[in-house]
Amino acid sequence: MTMEFTDRVSRVEPSATLAISALATELEAEGADVVDLSVGEPDFPTPENIVEAGQDAMDAGHTGYTTSAGILELREAIADKLADDGLDHSTDEIIVTPGAKQALYEIVQALVEDGDEVALLDPAWVSYEAMVKMAGGDLTRVDLSETDFQLEPALDDLADAVSDETELLIVNSPSNPTGAVYSDDALEGVRDLAVEHDITVISDEIYKEITYGVEPTSLGTLEGMADRTVTVNGFSKAYSMTGWRLGYFAGPEDLIDQAGKLHSHSVSSAVNFVQHAGLEALETETAVTEMVDAFEERRDLVVDLLADHGVDVAVPEGAFYMMLPVDDDDQAWCEGAIEDAHVATVPGSAFGTPGYARISYAASEERLEEGIERLAEEGYL
Ligand code: PLP
Repeated sequence: MTMEFTDRVSRVEPSATLAISALATELEAEGADVVDLSVGEPDFPTPENIVEAGQDAMDAGHTGYTTSAGILELREAIADKLADDGLDHSTDEIIVTPGAKQALYEIVQALVEDGDEVALLDPAWVSYEAMVKMAGGDLTRVDLSETDFQLEPALDDLADAVSDETELLIVNSPSNPTGAVYSDDALEGVRDLAVEHDITVISDEIYKEITYGVEPTSLGTLEGMADRTVTVNGFSKAYSMTGWRLGYFAGPEDLIDQAGKLHSHSVSSAVNFVQHAGLEALETETAVTEMVDAFEERRDLVVDLLADHGVDVAVPEGAFYMMLPVDDDDQAWCEGAIEDAHVATVPGSAFGTPGYARISYAASEERLEEGIERLAEEGYL
């Protein structure tokens, strides 16, 4: 018997990251000085030239509906960007969405039927689980916490977890919440399993532009993967455009056709002038480089400060998160940390990995130092 939509949604918890942010805002409203290390967004303003491009587009009257898949110029620019990453997609194989989250939602809805099995690598970004459950799918999870969040040493576990019954595997490298960037050998292992069991793979590359000394490979470039990979990316993180809501996905044409129906009947399109701002963003790499340099310095600072307090972390190579090992009851640890030290973090259990708290270092060096000092003072390190 198929599951009712209400049953599917009732299997889903509200977003833990958003809940912590709401708690931080509440404490701040009461006058507390909260060091918020829970947020998943760059603390840099959207680059001026991108803002201006959006304003110019509004002034020029780009305020009506656009083609559902997105304006052709933007899809061409995305196709060029993907080609630079080694991915060959025509503009017909690209859909521009209001954020990468919407892209992921559309793909999961288009692919996953009631009872389908979907594999996740834990810790996994909070919304994958929710999206799969809302589509009626069942989850198979592979724990990477025993291997410093690296996939390569856990390939045997992944091999045990997937089978011909697996419909979809979601890979996110660089990863939220761990900052891990998977090696080429790891991705080749994924490819071998995907081909063997005929699995479609979503490669969520939203942090691809934010890495420290490593070049992440796009999964879809590996032999045998072009026809089974849906690549997701967006503008929120790399261009500090979280509130503009702009993302995209590219994949095999039949899947794009299916997801495209869902897209046109739900969101119509991404916002017109925002798409023009996105076009400008793709032509500007300077802002990204400056931001990445700052994140790298902050990562080093946090790793060093934690080491001074005797805490070793798996050093992230991308994104702006790291996993801090905490008590088994990570939920209680995070609640205590925010109440006693006024430092907001996200419990690892929200990502399927209890015993950790996710720290976002998208905060100034001063605030990071303050946050770690307070955690230490209150006995949380
Ligand atoms: N994928 C991952 C792994 C993320 O961390 C996020 C945002 O936090 C998204 C997708 C969604 O990004 P967007 O703001 O483009 O919807």
